[in-house]
Amino acid sequence: MNAEHNIISVSGGKDSTALLLLAIERQAENMQAVFADTGNEHELTYDYLHYLEKSTGIPIRWVKADFSNQIAGRREYVLTKWAEKGVLQEEIDRAAAALVHTGIPFLDLCIWKGRFPSSKAAFCSDELKRKPIVEQVQKPLLYAGEDIISWQGVRRDESLRRRLLSENEIAKVFDNGAELWNYRPILDWSAADCFAMHKKHGIKHNPLYEMGMGRVGCMPCINCRKDELLEISKRFPDEIARIREWEIVVKQASKRLGATFFPAPSDNNEWSATQTIDVVVEWAKTSRGGKQYDFLRMQNDGPVCTSLYGLCE
Ligand code: SF4
Repeated sequence: MNAEHNIISVSGGKDSTALLLLAIERQAENMQAVFADTGNEHELTYDYLHYLEKSTGIPIRWVKADFSNQIAGRREYVLTKWAEKGVLQEEIDRAAAALVHTGIPFLDLCIWKGRFPSSKAAFCSDELKRKPIVEQVQKPLLYAGEDIISWQGVRRDESLRRRLLSENEIAKVFDNGAELWNYRPILDWSAADCFAMHKKHGIKHNPLYEMGMGRVGCMPCINCRKDELLEISKRFPDEIARIREWEIVVKQASKRLGATFFPAPSDNNEWSATQTIDVVVEWAKTSRGGKQYDFLRMQNDGPVCTSLYGLCE
C-alpha cells in the first residue's frame, strides 16, 4: 500500500485557515501545509502566515512560480520573430529591454504574457498558485509512488461553479499506481463556520478582514469589488503605487504598448491604454457603475477567484 500524504493549501484567508485547523483536528497523516506566494500579497498576510505557523505548530512551506525561462524565451521570440513580422526596431528594443526576470511571480507572469490577467483570461491562479504546488510539492511524491490527498478550502456558497463540486474525488491515477485525490471537507460550511473554527482553536483571523476586505488574496485581486478597491486605495496607497509601477513595466513588455491591471469595461473586454489603476481608483470613489470595474463580470457568479481549487482563498 502506498504512503498517504495530506497536502493542505493555505492562503492566509479564513477558508484555508479553517481547513488547516480541521486537518489538525483530524490528525491528518503526513500533513503538509503549503502556501503559494504570488508576490502580490499584502504584508499583513505574510505576517499572518508566520503567526499561523507559530500558533499551530504546523510548518507552512512556501512555494513560488519561476518564469525566468518563459521570459527568456519570449525575449528571444521578440528579438528574432518580431523583425520578420515587420515590427519597428525601436518597438523590438523597447519590449526586449522590458523582458527581464524580477523574481516577483505576479509581475514576471505579466511581463512574460505582456498583459495582466483578467476575469476572461484568469491565468493567474493556475500559474501562480496551482502549478507551483503541483510541480514542487505534489509531483515529487506522486512520482515516488506515494498517494496525495489535496485538501481544498472551497465552499459551495461562494459561486455557482463551486456549488456543483463533490467533496471527495480522484483526480488522477499515475502509471506507477500513485493516486491524487481532491478533498473538499468545508464545501458546505458558511463563512461564519470558518470564523467559528478559528475561535474554537483560539486562532486569530487575518486582520485584513477588519479592514474592509471581503476576501484575502492578491492585493488587489483582479476580481476585487469596487468597495474593496476603494478601501485598498485609502488604507494601502503603497499597494496602488506598486501596481502603478507594474503597469508601466508590463506596458513596455507588451506588443501594443498597453497593459492595465483592470481591463476596460468594453464589449470585447480588451485592454484600454487609458484604464490605469489610478483611473479605476477614481471610479471606485464614485457611485457610478457596478460592483466591479469590468461589468462583464457581473454576468459571472461573483467576485471570487475563478479557481476551483480555492487556492486564492
Ligand atoms: S487572488 Fe485574484 S489576482 Fe491573485 S491569483 Fe487569485 S484570482 Fe488571480
